[in-house]
Amino acid sequence: MEFTDSLTIALSKGRIFEQALPLLAHAGIEPRDDPESSRKLILETNQPHVKLVIIRASDVPTYVQYGAADLGVAGKDVLMEQGSAGLYEPLDLRIARCRMMVAGVPEADLGPDRLRIATKYVASTERHFAAKGQQVEIIKLYGSMELAPLVGLSDLIVDLVESGNTLEANGLVPLEHIADISSRLVVNKATWKMKHRSVMALLEVLREAVAKV
Ligand code: ATP
Ligand code: MG
Repeated sequence: MEFTDSLTIALSKGRIFEQALPLLAHAGIEPRDDPESSRKLILETNQPHVKLVIIRASDVPTYVQYGAADLGVAGKDVLMEQGSAGLYEPLDLRIARCRMMVAGVPEADLGPDRLRIATKYVASTERHFAAKGQQVEIIKLYGSMELAPLVGLSDLIVDLVESGNTLEANGLVPLEHIADISSRLVVNKATWKMKHRSVMALLEVLREAVAKV
């Protein structure tokens, strides 16, 4: 397909970019550069009106909310954490799938009050334990959550789990399921109105692509 409106699509490099590529290709969008080897943050595509901007996964909703990008690909984990006020979330792309889990050592006790939980997902963790009526102390980390229970920083962690290999390599096990995670297409609200036909056309081909792969 050909796009007549200009569209800027925000996505992060790594797994989301790699897994979004076939979906974009199905929509006739092919980037001219590879973000893994290029240092460019704005990638032109074969479509004169479509460009990609490469940003941190957790920054995608911000770019789209403010209209700096028309569309974006964001993990449900990021959307759960930041809220999706100010943007539409019309399509589950079913890529970068994993689960948000509570994990700990196999003999971990989930019972006691004021468990200490290390995570980068503070809001999601708070909601999960509040829903169970359990008070927890949350310690915000930015990565390598698996280390925290091993060195006594926390009793448990909340993190994303795909195969469980990283947990296992550190002697941890998944203990409780919080949410199934995948990447979602997000759309700026003004774009939705002003570039309606292009967005609808893109949505339709992406929906087809998701059903295929
Ligand atoms: P940064 O590394 O820049 O701090 P990040 O760790 O969130 O950001 P990635 O690890 O590339 O970046 O994760 C990007 C998105 O991919 C996450 O928001 C999540 O939706 C998804 N994701 C993260 N880890 C996994 C995983 N193990 N399996 C599948 N999807 C994952
Ligand atoms: Mg990471």
